[in-house]
Amino acid sequence: MIEGISQAPEAVLVRYGELTLKGANRLDFENALARNVRRALEPIVPVRLQREHARLLVFPEGRMEAVLQRLQQVFGISSVSPVWGAPCESEAIVECARRVLDDALLALPPGETRRFRVLSRRADKRFALGSMELDRLIAARIVRDEHPLRIDLDHPELVLGVEVRESRAWLYARREPGPGGLPVGTLGRALCLVSGGIDSPVAAWMAMKRGCEVVFVTFHSPPYIGQSAVNKVMDLVRVLGRWQRSARLYVVPFAPVQEALRDAGAEAYCTVLYRRTMHRIATRIAALERASALVTGESVGQVASQTLENLACIENAAGLPVLRPLVTFDKQETIALAQRIGTYALSSVQEPDCCSLFLPRHPVLRGSIATCEEIEARVDIEALVAAALAATEPHNLGPTARMRKVST
Ligand code: ATP
Ligand code: MG
Repeated sequence: MIEGISQAPEAVLVRYGELTLKGANRLDFENALARNVRRALEPIVPVRLQREHARLLVFPEGRMEAVLQRLQQVFGISSVSPVWGAPCESEAIVECARRVLDDALLALPPGETRRFRVLSRRADKRFALGSMELDRLIAARIVRDEHPLRIDLDHPELVLGVEVRESRAWLYARREPGPGGLPVGTLGRALCLVSGGIDSPVAAWMAMKRGCEVVFVTFHSPPYIGQSAVNKVMDLVRVLGRWQRSARLYVVPFAPVQEALRDAGAEAYCTVLYRRTMHRIATRIAALERASALVTGESVGQVASQTLENLACIENAAGLPVLRPLVTFDKQETIALAQRIGTYALSSVQEPDCCSLFLPRHPVLRGSIATCEEIEARVDIEALVAAALAATEPHNLGPTARMRKVST
């Protein structure tokens, strides 16, 4: 019996992508990833983190499956494996390999001979064997043991991974995919205009995936639209919050803006003008949140307000870059992502959106910025924006973050 070999997985090996990152960027990435991993696991179990070159090791005090599942929701992680540890010495590694493979075979139906291969990485170059030599040594010993395994380098059902590090070798047979992307927060903050629809929650998720912490704003029109529409958006924001550990939503009462624009006497432009005003208000909330971009769920050509001309009219009223992660998506692609993220079922519940109020019979398809400005000159847009901001309610729907009060 060799000392120091784990009886069960003792840690999670976290791999991350974005190999192009260098120098200070890489350090930022790694610091943010460690922080986000710690935060994500806080509610589950105490953990110790160990940073290795190009890897992170997470040692949880139990609840391994819950930890693995949670890590699959941390952006920046490309994959995770529960790992068994052994001293950096070939006999101990072979012994550990037997345990890992026994355990992996338990998860498969018994009886059949399984195709397997070994894939070692030798991060510690002081280890006597090269990685191919180690692969061969382990494979030969395992096959000789009469495990129900045969070597198949090209189409293995089981891959035994071995990472030889300075203090210990880590072995695994399971590898679960992570969500990829960049750690939330590494790109700063963005404010997402979120409706109860399918698209904007997916757009928010994609911005998070590229490293933005997302804060949310929704526009709501009581008394025309009921509270259940806002509740639905809140539920969506809670789901999205799991991917970043914060869920802050600003609810902006929007009926006075819509009434004023309806009465400005240019029915066809209503939807475009609502959107322009939403972008103005969102720009102000973004300043308060120190967010440096807006995010919407718009995609080209999906509805009348999303022609290139109308998108230009809308964007023109924003004081920040507008990110539209879904800009070229088909609806089916968005739906597939919404299902994966966990927002689809919620989004599919029918609730009216404030934009359905006072809908034009013939919405303009090729709006012009000059016409938008001409109509807006008939109302006091600045006063409407200020009043909407003064009546905006901030909600903290997540476990950690604090909200700022809106003052105009
Ligand atoms: P979604 O499914 O996100 O509602 P959509 O394809 O239905 O998008 P629109 O309803 O035209 O498209 O809305 C375009 C974008 O405008 C939305 O993706 C969202 O970013 C923003 N938006 C629309 N309505 C609201 C609202 N009530 N509050 C906040 N943002 C909104
Ligand atoms: Mg919509």
